[in-house]
Amino acid sequence: MTSPTPPIRTRFAPSPTGFLHIGGARTALFCYLAARATNGQFILRIEDTDRERSTEQSTQAILDGLAWLNLDYDEGPFYQSERFPRYQERVERLLDEGKAYRCYCSKERLDRLREEAIAAGEKPRYDGRCRDLASAPEGIEPVIRFRNPDEGSVAFDDRVRGRIEVDNSELDDLVIQRADGSPTYNFAVVIDDLDMNINLVIRGDDHINNTPRQINIYRALGAEAPEFGHVPMILGGDGARLSKRHGAVSVLAWREAGYLPDALINYLARLGWSDGDQEVFSRAQLIERFRIEDVNRKPSRFDTEKLDWLNQHYLREGAQDQLHTELGWHFEKAGLSADAGPPLADLVSVQSERFETLVELVEQSRPFYSDFESFDPGAAKKHLRPVAAEPLAALKTRLESLEDWVPDALQDAVQATADALEIGFGKIGMPLRVALMGHGQSPGINHTLWLVGRERTLDRIQRALDFIAERAAERS
Ligand code: GLU
Repeated sequence: MTSPTPPIRTRFAPSPTGFLHIGGARTALFCYLAARATNGQFILRIEDTDRERSTEQSTQAILDGLAWLNLDYDEGPFYQSERFPRYQERVERLLDEGKAYRCYCSKERLDRLREEAIAAGEKPRYDGRCRDLASAPEGIEPVIRFRNPDEGSVAFDDRVRGRIEVDNSELDDLVIQRADGSPTYNFAVVIDDLDMNINLVIRGDDHINNTPRQINIYRALGAEAPEFGHVPMILGGDGARLSKRHGAVSVLAWREAGYLPDALINYLARLGWSDGDQEVFSRAQLIERFRIEDVNRKPSRFDTEKLDWLNQHYLREGAQDQLHTELGWHFEKAGLSADAGPPLADLVSVQSERFETLVELVEQSRPFYSDFESFDPGAAKKHLRPVAAEPLAALKTRLESLEDWVPDALQDAVQATADALEIGFGKIGMPLRVALMGHGQSPGINHTLWLVGRERTLDRIQRALDFIAERAAERS
């Protein structure tokens, strides 16, 4: 028996400088799961202090991405841009206490320091020149720097990576407020996580070098730092950091490509986390089993084949309401109306096994919802020939009086027609398929007839018969 975990209060804190990408979504998911697993809270905070790079459009894309994945948060979204007075107040307190200072160094000087350090093979760091200035130079807007302790070290037990310890001599005095008065990431994040009572910070391990600096700021404010769990990055199939050249990296691009939110959630959860060999997890199971400590320390590789496999699984066995919502969205994008054909539940019962994505499914279901313009020339040439006229006409007569338009009865009708004419099933099946779909690919013929529906079926058989007759007339 493990002892009950205290409720985790955590946050997802994206910078709105792009879409919600796969890595961000996975961090958000881990935050969400950690909170839900402990009856805690999951907070959304938009880190838009970088006024030049942050856009409203990105913020919206992040909100839309989270909504699509059903990662609902308990509080927020909070916006850092609305909290500048609070950061200012905290900066002043540190200045008053001598824990921060104004720095007037020019960009040229800082660049030079950096170049010299690099040339000497050292880590670039600020040399502390403005730490104890007697008087302020005129006419320069200073930045504010945090006075990092010179002595000692910072240690923390990362919930994913284990113990991490850094000497203060490794850290320099970082800028906490820019000359334009805006706070920097490392400062705003500390103030917010404190004010929002965050007790576990889950974020990408690209921030791991920031954490000791942030812990020093907590200390300077007389506060205790939260715990941290840094999750490793995601690599593309070639082992390089996942990026656009590996394909879709934005979550909503996966929606457009025909993936289900539950499939992506399941996939992202398994990307760096596992529980035995199990691959398919319901959301309830994820919530029950997820522990941040079980997240892998090593980076994981994005594997589209596995995602396809999971998407196929959720197409077949996932929640119907989600499937219908997504189908509706794809229908609209494809310019189709779901009302113009069979009920979605009927479509799904036939088609969900046959495709890996909703895009393929909808594209291949087009003839059930709208008329096609012309027969595929190759398929027509091969199957809509004079020999097909008699079986198609006979079948049409039989179907006109068929009572129940259901797969079994439809199968029987085709079989009976073939039997009566003493021809093989295929001699009627293939021409029929082309008549109904415009091409040669479709589900089983009974299901194809069922989904196309009586009226369209009769019209389309007639159309095929006309086509055969016209072609025969042209030839003679
Ligand atoms: N805004 C930061 C980012 O998007 C958040 C890092 C953090 O969670 O502390 O990388």
